[in-house]
Amino acid sequence: MPQTAFRLNSFTESVIREMTRISDRYHAINLSQGFPDFDPPYQLVAAARQALADGYHQYAITWGSPRLRKALAKKQQYWMQTDIDPDSNIVVTCGATEAMMVAMMTACNPGDKVIIFSPFYENYGADTILCGAEPIYVPLYPPTFEFDPDELRKAFQQGVKALVLCNPSNPTGKVFSFEELKLIAELACEYDTFVITDEVYEHIVYQPNIHRYMVSFPDMQKRTISCSSLSKTYSITGWRLGYVIACPEVIHAAKKVHDFLTVGAAAPLQEAAVAALEFPLTYYAALQKEYTQRRDLFLSYLDRAKLRYTTPQGAYYVLVDISDFGFENDTRFCRWLIKEIGVAAVPGSSFFHEPVNHLVRFHFAKKEETLKAAGERLLKIGTVV
Ligand code: GLN
Repeated sequence: MPQTAFRLNSFTESVIREMTRISDRYHAINLSQGFPDFDPPYQLVAAARQALADGYHQYAITWGSPRLRKALAKKQQYWMQTDIDPDSNIVVTCGATEAMMVAMMTACNPGDKVIIFSPFYENYGADTILCGAEPIYVPLYPPTFEFDPDELRKAFQQGVKALVLCNPSNPTGKVFSFEELKLIAELACEYDTFVITDEVYEHIVYQPNIHRYMVSFPDMQKRTISCSSLSKTYSITGWRLGYVIACPEVIHAAKKVHDFLTVGAAAPLQEAAVAALEFPLTYYAALQKEYTQRRDLFLSYLDRAKLRYTTPQGAYYVLVDISDFGFENDTRFCRWLIKEIGVAAVPGSSFFHEPVNHLVRFHFAKKEETLKAAGERLLKIGTVV
């Protein structure tokens, strides 16, 4: 039989999805793969029904339905504080997952180097390798997940084509500070590098932290490829709606990549999502409030269970330190946690390039009752180990 491609040997299957499968097998409460167990706003469900009734069954324009791009430009223009033209600055994609792949393939030639902060969302390494580029990892040091500016500069000095920035960050919950972003922007300008952002958690930020868009920094308009999605902001991860926003030259190229990768995102859902993008600003304030309550509730259980963690500043993940429990590694701990405690988490090592084995990631995008049930089970950890 012919051999499958070598490029697949350098990365593994998604550990996040694997944990979900194990969790389901043992009927655990799944706090591994990050997605809500609550419904999206009811207006979106109604809008989706309407879109199907209205006959949106065939391909939308490949880079996105005109109504959706218009609504997206208006909303993102407000938040990103930059002019966005629906025709020349946007490509609608199948989730931010496709957006990141499109951005990477648009920016990188085979052999190019790409800076990735570690720990990182598992797709970035695979995306880089799939487009023939080489990842260069810059550590974010636990427990505060700050980077060493000298290490970052040294990485840029290796002649990199792009830097991937997940902000607010999965899995750390870090929101990059103004000073950190300013330095990244300055280095990107100095070394003529793209910054590919993953900003899917842009609206899930805990006070007093503030999300700042990379594109808003001086001279970053032409070199920022902003990727995001509607999944997290409107609790519709299964709708698979994401987008790339960038300057016309980049978007012209990105449209080609997207067209040949997927043709387009689901047409009726694109029409329905216009309703979401037209929500008033109060929606985003309420979202932030609700996620703050979920975070605080889950962290209160971690405190009671005497688990040590880094307080998330944004996104809906928390990294918990398991070194007190004496497990050989984090994967063993996670398997034990599913079977004996009935809660699923993701081994932190699957996000780190470095050999870091003492952290596990929980997510808290869940109903209050789910978080309480998981929290009650976690309280038993100390007695069972
Ligand atoms: N972004 C989510 C996570 O990190 C979901 C990942 C996925 O399975 N697409 O858990």
